[in-house]
Amino acid sequence: MSHYQKPPELYEGLRLHQNENTGGCSPRVIEALARLRPDQIGFYPPYAAATKAVATYLGVSTDRITLTNGLDEGIMALAVAFLRAAIGGPQLEAVVPEPAFEIFRFDTAVAGGKLVQVMPRPDFGFPLDEVLAAITRNTRLVFVTNPNNPTGVDMPLDAIRTIARRIPPGAVVFVDEAYAEFSGISFIPELDAFPNVVVGRTFSKAFGLAGLRIGCLVGAPATLEPVRRAVPVYSVNVAAVAAVLAALDDLDHLHDYLRQVDESKALLYAACDRLGLAYVKSRSNFVLVRAGDRTDALVKGAFAKGIYLRDRSTEPGCAGSLRIATGIVEHTRRAIAVMEEVLCAAR
Ligand code: PMP
Repeated sequence: MSHYQKPPELYEGLRLHQNENTGGCSPRVIEALARLRPDQIGFYPPYAAATKAVATYLGVSTDRITLTNGLDEGIMALAVAFLRAAIGGPQLEAVVPEPAFEIFRFDTAVAGGKLVQVMPRPDFGFPLDEVLAAITRNTRLVFVTNPNNPTGVDMPLDAIRTIARRIPPGAVVFVDEAYAEFSGISFIPELDAFPNVVVGRTFSKAFGLAGLRIGCLVGAPATLEPVRRAVPVYSVNVAAVAAVLAALDDLDHLHDYLRQVDESKALLYAACDRLGLAYVKSRSNFVLVRAGDRTDALVKGAFAKGIYLRDRSTEPGCAGSLRIATGIVEHTRRAIAVMEEVLCAAR
């Protein structure tokens, strides 16, 4: 299995290719970072206050939260905790409905697990029957993402309940909610009733903290126990701790971004309609545009003008598709202008 192909380090132009908040974090985060004292940086970081703030924000008790160095680290810890086979035991399996965040595949391989991919339906509707059919007695992880990346579509919560009832003892459903702020839908209120479900959240996207790396896993303490052992003790640094406290203290900043995301999506949909480009309606802060044989020209043409879009054509079910972040309205307008220019020039 090849490894994750990190997108090239492009920071000069407009980054619409990694679903980031291109407006950045709240100014209060910058103030909090500036207030950090030398001794605070000299010490290993304390987690109680940040854990409490995150728990309050998510409406759970603190014993249900594990902070991680980005949700990426949480996903790796889950894979390590649930997919490592016992000596002489069977290879343990992870079910991944595609298209999905590629990291699920790579972390499954790192942990020695067997990847069981479920191929998408043409309309990207959640393939519940196919996922249920892929579950075996060796399944230990089912990865779902709500709303999904790279499609932006959401899935019925009832599908999560059904999967949770059907997986074998000792297995978990991981609900990746990296983009849940944008859809407003979460499985977190149901975690009491479903102790074999773990939810992942991140502060990278809606809160604009991707550069500081902080996310969390939410679940029943007993379920999280083996995962906690797989997370390095001080993996979240003191700057991320200060940042998340400040970010959660400025929900107006979040709400302004959420409003811009809605406006940006409406603008992009209208532009796609004008340009004759199909797209998938998104519940997230990005849109998958089904540009077909114009995908390559669009991605390369926009790149030449300093706007980065992500060609997702090699992902299952995504031939001829590009993904574009739809956040800050001014950035979306610039991207649309460039898309129009590129397509008109190609005529
Ligand atoms: N899950 C999904 C579905 C994502 O798209 C991403 C980021 N691209 C992550 C997890 C990881 O987020 P973080 O920056 O918190 O590691």
